[in-house]
Amino acid sequence: GDDTRIARISSAIRVIPDFPKPGILFQDITTLLLDPRAFRDSIDLFVERYKDKNISVVAGIEARGFIFGPPIALAIGAKFVPMRKPKKLPGEVISEEYSLEYGTDVMEMHVGAVQAGERALIVDDLIATGGTLCAAIRLLERVGVDVVECACVIELPELKGRDRLGDKPLFVLING
Ligand code: AMP
Repeated sequence: GDDTRIARISSAIRVIPDFPKPGILFQDITTLLLDPRAFRDSIDLFVERYKDKNISVVAGIEARGFIFGPPIALAIGAKFVPMRKPKKLPGEVISEEYSLEYGTDVMEMHVGAVQAGERALIVDDLIATGGTLCAAIRLLERVGVDVVECACVIELPELKGRDRLGDKPLFVLING
């Protein structure tokens, strides 16, 4: 059942204290990738949720959204669109700036990758403050895409990222 699968996923994620800096509890999904059963369980749980929702775009956030997004996209028959750090995409891009703990960052998407009216799912490994997902939502909505939901493997609920998404639905497998 779902509980068995969630338990397997949860125990396959490694938590590393003080990475990349003191005070951060880093949720390391590379150990989930080492366990094919648990990795498959994580993909299956997303696919079961999204397969009949008429989603034509899976937007994956660099870098770990590039690991979970494509297998979900293939399984539900959607295209995969990378949401990248600046200066990585070779074609014409649209950009969205967002705030970090210190300073700002920028997310980019290729112009023409998505069309107005398409239905998108945004995928990343983890939601902390929600700033990253918010930038992805803004980028897609600016070009007229309907963002159906955001999906992450892990949520850090104490950081209240879910509140920052407003009424945009967020689905997660595990609370970190
Ligand atoms: P945020 O924009 O604050 O929601 O941060 C989410 C982004 O930062 C995601 O792309 C995560 O991969 C990464 N991230 C933030 N905090 C952690 C953490 N404790 N462990 C692993 N990744 C994290």
